[in-house]
Amino acid sequence: MTPPPQLETEILVLGAGPGGYTAAFRAADLGKKVVLVERAPVLGGVCLNVGCIPSKALLHAAKVIEQTHEMAAAGLSFTAHTPDLDKLRGWKSGIVGKLTSGLAALAKQRKVTIVTGTGRFVSPHEIEVTHDGAVTRIAFAHAIIAAGSEPVKLPFVPNTDPRVLDSTGALDLADVPKRLLVIGGGIIGLEMATVYHALGSRVSVVELMDQIIPGVDRDIVAPLLKHIKARYESIHLQTKVTKVDAGAAGLTVTLESGGQSRSETFDKILIAVGRTPNGNQLSLDAAGIAVDERGYIPVDRRMRTNVSHIFAVGDVVGQPMLAHKAVHEGKVAAQAAAGMNSTFDARVIPSVAYTDPEVAWVGLSETEAKDKGIAYGKGAFPWAASGRALSLGRDEGLTKVLFDPETHRILGCGIVGPNAGDLIAEAALAIEMGADAADIGATIHPHPTLSETFAQSAEMFEGTITDLMPRREHRE
Ligand code: FAD
Ligand code: NAD
Repeated sequence: MTPPPQLETEILVLGAGPGGYTAAFRAADLGKKVVLVERAPVLGGVCLNVGCIPSKALLHAAKVIEQTHEMAAAGLSFTAHTPDLDKLRGWKSGIVGKLTSGLAALAKQRKVTIVTGTGRFVSPHEIEVTHDGAVTRIAFAHAIIAAGSEPVKLPFVPNTDPRVLDSTGALDLADVPKRLLVIGGGIIGLEMATVYHALGSRVSVVELMDQIIPGVDRDIVAPLLKHIKARYESIHLQTKVTKVDAGAAGLTVTLESGGQSRSETFDKILIAVGRTPNGNQLSLDAAGIAVDERGYIPVDRRMRTNVSHIFAVGDVVGQPMLAHKAVHEGKVAAQAAAGMNSTFDARVIPSVAYTDPEVAWVGLSETEAKDKGIAYGKGAFPWAASGRALSLGRDEGLTKVLFDPETHRILGCGIVGPNAGDLIAEAALAIEMGADAADIGATIHPHPTLSETFAQSAEMFEGTITDLMPRREHRE
């Protein structure tokens, strides 16, 4: 006979990343008894421990290094730096530690019970958590799955060789390789390339598609491509890695492009070709929960799986795999599980690559509009005409806003340039609020800021711009 469960709870949350801890905390604030299960010894998931936060700490360090080089042109020369990797690593870990211990304190204040161990479903109302050989059975009325994702591995790569890194290994910063090959010109690949280039690696990037950050408008990605082409050892587009041989002198990589193949040797390689959901690791069939062949768990707008008392959020339910999406979904699921009428009805989810320059986009892109035959009008403001951009010594940026040609309502926005990631939030708010170009143009933005370029893009569309010449049709 199966023994009774050791714990019983109203809401069980599986996984303590941004989706899971948000769901747990919101459910507790709504008066629910909550158990949060996490296999790692600390809360925070990928984002806090091996994702968003450590990468942004290192990217800040990279930015400071790059700025010391840039300012030489303005007469400010700094003596060459020698990064103290132990100290840098310690500084990064300190930031992560502050945040994860803060989460533990918030869980305690809310009386959320934390159970450490690896969970798997054993029935539609029970989960089994294993930790150091000990098993805890937990019965629940509702469950929220927030088990996240892990890096995709390439089968032909010697993945156990310590010179082959995934994002977690790259963030560990064991050393600064002389030559680093980044496989995958997406967000992770380009953010880590930014860090290692600043620290002194000669960086090469290989991307399968014909542009870096595929899917983002080419004019928005172009200033980033130009910037890194001038600095990195090489950028290979439409190129495939077909073989990696581990040798004493390094990793010899075979690159294939346009029917031609050649080999090069690198000290380390970073594999950044996407992430795969953890949906297949949870014995979901024991609870009757549907999961697709890739490991994604299908959910409805209330974040409910096919089993009505079990919800799922975050990377495990689909793209985009972003922390702010997971957080938003975590709130929706907790509220729905607590009986509130809560649905995921956000119009847009902004994306940011924290590269140098940053690339940010939200809502409709020009590429998508053209592909789907959606009518749009456009207002774009080149940062070469922005006093603030010039005073930063960085005039390569661009702000581009798309509008509905009938209603003039904002449909989407793309920004490239320093701080684009912060600037895109205003466009997301404008889309959520249904703002039109006149609203945006007439909103007084502080001068001199990069935020002005958002209003100036709206003025370009409306024909009311005075910082540049308006389009001809607006001048008659
Ligand atoms: P996760 O954060 O993956 O958390 C899932 C948790 O579940 C983990 O702690 C895991 O240990 C636990 N778990 C899984 N299975 C079990 C089990 N069976 N039992 C117990 N526990 C389990 N996103 C952004 O928005 N901005 C960024 O700047 C950004 N930078 C990133 C940088 C890197 C290098 C990486 C890798 C990712 C980055 N992301 C970023 C993506 C972001 O980290 C994820 O979208 C986010 O963490 C997803 O949250 P989640 O709650 O769905 O899952
Ligand atoms: P990604 O999907 O963003 O990029 C992977 C890239 O690798 C793509 O451009 C793809 O075309 C390319 N690729 C795939 N197979 C390849 C191959 N065999 N050879 C060469 N190129 C290949 O994935 P990622 O960069 O690994 O990031 C994973 C997820 O993490 C993303 O979906 C993103 O949502 C999230 N993330 C977000 C941030 C952020 O918000 N700033 C930062 C890091 C990660």
